Amino acid sequence: MSAPSDAQRMEKIVSLCKRRGFIFQSSEIYGGLNGLWDYGPLGVELKRNLKDYWWRVMVHERDDVVGLDGSILTHPAVLKASGHVEGFSDPMIDCRTCKAHLRLDQLVEKKGIKQCPSCGGKDLTEARQFNLMFETHVGAAADESSIAYLRPETAQSIFVQFKNVLEVSRKKLPFGIAQIGKAFRNEINPRNFTFRSREFEQMELEYFCRPEQGMELLEYWKEERLKFYENIGISRANLHVRNVPDEERAFYSKGTYDIEYDFPFGRHELEGVAYRTDYDLSQHQKASGKSLEYFDEETKEKLIPHVVEPSAGVDRTLLALICEGYAEDQAPNDKGEMETRTVLRFHPRIAPIKCAIFPLLKNKEPLVVKAKEIVQLLRPHMTVFYDESGAIGRRYRRQDEIGTPFGVTVDFETLGEKDAALRDTVTLRDRDSMKQERVAIKDLVETLTPRIRGFISI
Ligand code: ATP
Repeated sequence: MSAPSDAQRMEKIVSLCKRRGFIFQSSEIYGGLNGLWDYGPLGVELKRNLKDYWWRVMVHERDDVVGLDGSILTHPAVLKASGHVEGFSDPMIDCRTCKAHLRLDQLVEKKGIKQCPSCGGKDLTEARQFNLMFETHVGAAADESSIAYLRPETAQSIFVQFKNVLEVSRKKLPFGIAQIGKAFRNEINPRNFTFRSREFEQMELEYFCRPEQGMELLEYWKEERLKFYENIGISRANLHVRNVPDEERAFYSKGTYDIEYDFPFGRHELEGVAYRTDYDLSQHQKASGKSLEYFDEETKEKLIPHVVEPSAGVDRTLLALICEGYAEDQAPNDKGEMETRTVLRFHPRIAPIKCAIFPLLKNKEPLVVKAKEIVQLLRPHMTVFYDESGAIGRRYRRQDEIGTPFGVTVDFETLGEKDAALRDTVTLRDRDSMKQERVAIKDLVETLTPRIRGFISI
């Protein structure tokens, strides 16, 4: 069997996501709303595991980072000061032939003439600026005075609350404020599944420091973030660091790295790590008239801290995890014949379900009772799934396809019917190697937990 092309691979991934309940199109029964997605029962678990792990590594395991959960609706003054009201726009072009709305950078150029990528049309409008922010009104009056925006990034509430957080946390530079939350951008062309959406989640850290520490911390955070992706199972070979050149960088940034991933549809940004100098705090200090300075007790100096920002997308990372994990290989069916199996090779730490539990036969009461006891034993420690229907091979296959790393089967040996020494032991099957080992039920928790947390490789 030849390997599927990247386009076929992506099609299979999208179809698996829907079929198994990772990702659905938003408002699907009404024809869908472009650029918006709903996460199904497995998608929501995967997303929570990703966000929880980010929070653990970026906040709980550090002394120098605290969290924030800011509001989504944002005062227009905040986004004026940050530059979003004036400048958060993409140049947009319409094709008069096929009526496509396009971003300027999507046009294709043939023999020096710009063309529509959909129909090849050359009758294009002039570029006009299109602001990507969603606007709404707060309160009853729908006029200029009541405008608010849905935040286009989570970062701004961190800058605006900088002084409050500093006072209550009593942190010394360098220290960071982390946030995970929704952001909204009215993207001109949402595409590549969830990669470019109009509503998405970000995981952002604003790490405040003294000016002379900025460049060094930029390197530090780039490395930390690469480690993070490796720890959730993304191979280093598929990650790339792009040193964003001067002409593409925001004017206030002294250095920016894009961490990119090889998606089946090309190499694209997962996260930006940017040294933003003191631009954001200075802007908000100027616009609000409130001091956002930091008093350094050692040097008795007042300064506006500089900031390094690792800003990652939850949805893009989740898509990368699915693309990275997706594989087709050969496995024996119940008759011992080899067939193609689809498997999501998630790292156990982020897999939506950690362990599936199967009684060999559903009509043998003692097997079912034992299997349900194991469900209760494991449930306080991990997400589990009980399945008694169908041939055992089919049940394994269903779990492989959603990335469940471990399967426990209760068989007649568990009941001690064949060999008394095997009483109260089960087979523990590993998703990737498909190897089976015999484990005592009482040892299951201590066997599985280190493998899930990643302390022991299997
Ligand atoms: P792009 O160039 O792809 O539009 P960006 O450079 O504008 O992205 P940032 O403003 O740096 O993105 O946002 C930080 C992160 O938020 C991105 O690296 C990405 O993971 C995520 N993100 C940004 N826009 C979207 C979107 N429309 N859909 C999904 N995730 C997004």
